[in-house]
Amino acid sequence: MEFDFENRITDPEIIADEMLESENPLRPKSMNEYIGQEKVKENLAVFIQAAKMREESLDHVLLYGPPGLGKTTLAGIIANEMNVNLRITSGPAIEKPGDLAALLTNMSEGDVLFIDEIHRLSRNVEEILYPSMEDFAIDIVTGKGQMAASYHLPLQHFTLVGATTRAGQLTAPLRDRFGVVLRLELYTPEELSRIVKRSAGILGIDIDNDGAFIIASRSRGTPRIANRMLKRVRDFAEVINHGKIDGNTANIALSRLEVDELGLDNNDRRMLEAIIKFYKGGPVGVETLAAAIGEEAVTIEDVYEPYLMQIGFLNRTPRGRCITAAACEHLGYPYPIE
Ligand code: ADP
Repeated sequence: MEFDFENRITDPEIIADEMLESENPLRPKSMNEYIGQEKVKENLAVFIQAAKMREESLDHVLLYGPPGLGKTTLAGIIANEMNVNLRITSGPAIEKPGDLAALLTNMSEGDVLFIDEIHRLSRNVEEILYPSMEDFAIDIVTGKGQMAASYHLPLQHFTLVGATTRAGQLTAPLRDRFGVVLRLELYTPEELSRIVKRSAGILGIDIDNDGAFIIASRSRGTPRIANRMLKRVRDFAEVINHGKIDGNTANIALSRLEVDELGLDNNDRRMLEAIIKFYKGGPVGVETLAAAIGEEAVTIEDVYEPYLMQIGFLNRTPRGRCITAAACEHLGYPYPIE
C-alpha cells in the first residue's frame, strides 16, 4: 500500500529543486521577509547582532521542528545577515569522517555549514564533529599499525546550523554543543495566508483574501505545503476562472485534489480510519499502526502526527496513539467506538 510521495500535495518533504535558490524564488532571503516564528526571529536577531558587534562567528544553532517549516530558509537568512557563505549538506550525505573533514577545511572564517537531518549522522562522523564544534580543529588518523599517521587540522571559526525533525533523537553530547536551540512551531492560518499572498505576488498570481485564507487553512501549518497548494490551485484557476484565485475557485480546486477543509488528505484519513476500524480508536503502537497502513513509523511521527495532534485529532499516550472524539466526528464515526 505504498503511496506516491512525489505527487502527494500535502507532503512537506524537501524536493531537490526547492533547495536551489534559482529554482525557488519563494524562499525568503532576509528576516523581514520571513513571516511568523516571531520568538525564534527575535532571539536570533539578538544573537546575530551581538556576534557582529563582537566580530565573532555566531554560536552553533540547532533548529528543530517538522519538515517544511523553514529551517533551511532560516540557515540561509543567518548566513545572509552575517554576510558569510552558506554550505548545505545533510546527515546521511556525510558518509565518512573524511567527507566532513573536506567540508570543514574548505570553510572560510564565519561561514555557515547547514546540516539537515543532523540526527542521521553516523557515529564516527559525529565523533569528529564534536572537537570541530568546540575547538575548531580536527584530528584525523589515517592508515593502520605502523603506517598510521595522525593529523591535527586547525579550522576557521564556522557556525554549524543543524536541523532535525526530532531533537530527542540527537545524542546528548551533540545537543550540548549547540549554544542556541530553537524550536519552530506550525504556522497559524493567518501567517500562512500572508505567506500565500507573498508567494502569489512573486509568481504573479491574482488571488483575493478568501482564496489565500482557504489555501492557508488547509496547509497543515506548513509553508512548503501552502506554496505547493498555491501552484496547484493556480492551475485550476487558469482553467476555470481566468487565472483568478478566489474562495470559490480555491474550494473547488482543493476538493478536486481531495484535500478536505482541515487540510487532511487520503493518507491522513486512511491512518485515522485504521485506528478506528482495526484498533477501536486505540491505543495502538506506532510500529503496529505503520505496518497496518504500509507506512514508515518515522513518516507517521514526523509528517502525519504533528498536525493531527495540533488540531486535536490524535493523542500520544505511553500506551500508543488514541483517536479523539473530534476526529471521529469529522470522519463521521460514532464516539466512543463500539
Ligand atoms: P525545512 O528546511 O524546515 O524543511 P524550508 O526552509 O525548506 O523548510 O522551507 C520550505 C519552503 O517554505 C521554502 O522554500 C519557503 O518558500 C517557504 N517558507 C518557509 N518558511 C517561511 C516563512 N517563514 N515565510 C515565508 N516562506 C517560508
